[in-house]
Amino acid sequence: MNQSDLRQIVADTARLSVERGLNQGSSGNVSVRCGAGMLITPSGLATDGLKPNDIVYLPFDGEAEGDLPPSSEWRFHRDIYLHRPEAGAVVHAHSPFAVSLSCLRRGIPSFHYMVALAGGKDIHCAEYATFGTQALSDHILAALTDRQACLMANHGLVAFGDSAERALYIALEVEALCEQFWRASLLGAPVLLSDAEMAEVIERFKSYGR
Ligand code: 13P
Ligand code: ZN
Repeated sequence: MNQSDLRQIVADTARLSVERGLNQGSSGNVSVRCGAGMLITPSGLATDGLKPNDIVYLPFDGEAEGDLPPSSEWRFHRDIYLHRPEAGAVVHAHSPFAVSLSCLRRGIPSFHYMVALAGGKDIHCAEYATFGTQALSDHILAALTDRQACLMANHGLVAFGDSAERALYIALEVEALCEQFWRASLLGAPVLLSDAEMAEVIERFKSYGR
């Protein structure tokens, strides 16, 4: 895919993240891998009003091109691409239920088999650090070990996939799981699936729907 197609995909995915209730205002950011760098949403602009030319190219080892500054979270987007070769796109969101759970600094346990969509038997909550810092990126990378999504303490969620469509899909599913876990927890302590049950689901997901 050429750079102008990828710019359109980043702008479309950012708009969809607002339309699907994951973000509002300038919260959240989206990127796709592009050669030895990434195309990422600019910092501080409305996430749903971006045009392809607003998307910033940022090489992994250099300065951003163009007039607009890259997302303040470029460090964790870059670090995901550098440490996870399977990552083709990253979506970050301040979605209501993920934020609520992240404020308790709790991840999502194995209360539902779809938790395995993120790659593990549970979904971790990354430790807190100020937005835009290398410390936050380090915490996120640790929480993403063997997984494609995590919560971020007192902040939100991050998901990646081999495509922007997949990264958005996982982000939407994580948000849904946070809501479902919250609702179930209102009624009592959800019964958790065992490690063996989750391992079976993880195995099945390797061939499911792809
Ligand atoms: P940016 O506008 O810089 O992408 O910041 C939004 C955000 O979600 C920070 O965590
Ligand atoms: Zn954020």
